[in-house]
Amino acid sequence: MIKFWQRRVGREISTENLELDDELEEIKKQIKNKINKKFAGSLAIRMVDSGSCNACEAECNALSNPYYNLERLGFYFVASPRHADVMLLSGAMSVNMHHHALDAYEQIPSPKWVISLGDCPTMEAPFEKTFAIKAPVSEYLPIAHHISGCPPEPKDIIKGLLDFLNKLE
Ligand code: SF4
Repeated sequence: MIKFWQRRVGREISTENLELDDELEEIKKQIKNKINKKFAGSLAIRMVDSGSCNACEAECNALSNPYYNLERLGFYFVASPRHADVMLLSGAMSVNMHHHALDAYEQIPSPKWVISLGDCPTMEAPFEKTFAIKAPVSEYLPIAHHISGCPPEPKDIIKGLLDFLNKLE
């Protein structure tokens, strides 16, 4: 064990320094300004998985890490639709999730918006239309903005959120 640590300390800790993405930093700045101006500093998101493969959710999880740090910009993920402003909907809307998604939408106080995430909600993703799939979700919910990709990367999602905020102007 001592030899292991001697070797380890002798080699120094190899942590790479992060390279800042200037484009991403600019997008973050714009998001922060817009949320401050329009939503008094915070915009709450209720994520609803209507039948996804979970890759879209994994990319969303990355938004909470210290690099993307979405909460510092004013976006918050909340557990209840009653606390939300925006529904972020992923998945191909399975029959079993259909009424839950509509129910969650009903419970969001107005004004409210739905952003569809990934190619599933628009039926562009690998799943094929079957009796168990209700997508495209635009037939059931008013989609204010769509973020495409399978899955969209965290930067694509952040860009998509900025595009959504721009649409509200
Ligand atoms: S869009 Fe692609 S990554 Fe996202 S849930 Fe559908 S299949 Fe999975």
